[in-house]
Amino acid sequence: MQLQKTPTENWNNRQNGAEPHYIILHYTGTKTAEEAAARFLDSTPDQEDLIGRISPHYMIDGASNILQFVEEDKRAWHAGKSFWKTEADMNSHSIGIEIWNTGHEFECEEFIPEQIDALIELINDIRTRWDIPNANILGHSDIAPGRKKDPGEKFPWRLLEINGIGLMPQVGEEHDSPKKEMLEIPDLFYKALHQFGYNPDANPADLLWAFRAHYAPKSLGSKDIDEETCAAILSLLAQTR
Ligand SMILES: [Zn+2]
Repeated sequence: MQLQKTPTENWNNRQNGAEPHYIILHYTGTKTAEEAAARFLDSTPDQEDLIGRISPHYMIDGASNILQFVEEDKRAWHAGKSFWKTEADMNSHSIGIEIWNTGHEFECEEFIPEQIDALIELINDIRTRWDIPNANILGHSDIAPGRKKDPGEKFPWRLLEINGIGLMPQVGEEHDSPKKEMLEIPDLFYKALHQFGYNPDANPADLLWAFRAHYAPKSLGSKDIDEETCAAILSLLAQTR
């Protein structure tokens, strides 16, 4: 695998010597990949994350080149304020990969097939070094619902899953009675999301969007919780049990 090293100063040590057990996927949300790279290399603001200094470990640009900004054993600054399961310092426990795409603020175009090929190769390579279960390959919007929408509903999660990367609902599995219950009592649906890992303090509407953008994109247009969405969370929980 071809890597271009473009080291940034935007990193620190992982908390308590933590090792990465998550991969967090992002889109850059910039008009060009160069613009994103310039931000990752900019170490002039005096604050980490959010409004100041940011960095992923890797970025895949529009020509599908893989650029490395931070060494994998160091803590890059891509997740910001985030949460999954019990963990609030996701930067200490993850490897962050940015994929160039203009995102929701601009055209939000389809990802380029070669970018996804490069991503699959990169993730498989990372997994030769670190223990990263499929359930721990997440989007930024999963760990920061409401605040972040990347990598967005156009990201091909299912294609990754077909290639052995990430966890997706299995169509055709029957969970009829709990599904019916969930449709009647939305609280049960949100409890299931919290059990899976989503932040229990997040706004339900934001959680619903984030969940669908990743795991049930066909239901994104509907306002209420529907059968597909319930079946999706039940299937995911069954797979992680
Ligand atoms: Zn992001």
